[in-house]
Amino acid sequence: MRKKLVAGNWKMHGNKEQNQELLNAIIAGMPRMRSGECVVCVPYPYLSQVQLLLQNTFIKLGAQNVNQFAKGAYTGEVSAEMLNDFGCHYVIVGHSERRAVYGENDQTVALKYAAAQKSNMVPILCVGETSEQREADVTEQVIFKQLNAVIENSGVSSLVNAVIAYEPVWAIGTGKTATPQQAQDVHSYIRKSIAMLDPEVASALTILYGGSVKADNASQLFAMPDIDGGLIGGASLIATDFISICQSVQN
Ligand code: PEP
Repeated sequence: MRKKLVAGNWKMHGNKEQNQELLNAIIAGMPRMRSGECVVCVPYPYLSQVQLLLQNTFIKLGAQNVNQFAKGAYTGEVSAEMLNDFGCHYVIVGHSERRAVYGENDQTVALKYAAAQKSNMVPILCVGETSEQREADVTEQVIFKQLNAVIENSGVSSLVNAVIAYEPVWAIGTGKTATPQQAQDVHSYIRKSIAMLDPEVASALTILYGGSVKADNASQLFAMPDIDGGLIGGASLIATDFISICQSVQN
């Protein structure tokens, strides 16, 4: 059975007081997951605080970005080993905001993915098309190129220790969710493309959907056969919504 996962991406939100309040409410409202896994990807300065708050809970810790190099003169950057030091299990790589705002290309993302795995973390590799690309009917080509950069660099077998998040750029933070069928079509394309290289890896791969997932649309999305959970931005900051989304993945 494929692992079900809900990952919260806090982006650049929170402070010590809010983090504590949010996590206390999530932990109290949902003392465990019956099946599947739940992770919160928090801003770097709060890794230590959140690591402590999550001790002895069912929630795993993640980060939102990682540098591709092991160490050196990279002012302002954070290495995979540093994240490891704080008990991070997961790290998001190639989020569309990193690609669009900070110019990360497929090659850089492939190196970050490899760096995360080298430090025993599970990369959550984000792929997705813009609205222009969808309108131009090149969604599959865009996704293929993003995936292929990672497969060429790390090999298809590396996907055994990775998660893919399909996040249509036009759906992130916009309130416009892909329909369950639109999302399923791309998830199925991703799984089939990988199956051509390694059917076992493809069938065991966790593929998340991200893009305006909310408490009221999560169940329909997660009911689709190739959708194994979600990468959740805005709704991961509201305890009741995040709890409800985590519960939807278990049904
Ligand atoms: C995200 O940050 O990856 C995301 C999907 O955000 P939102 O859920 O707010 O659209």
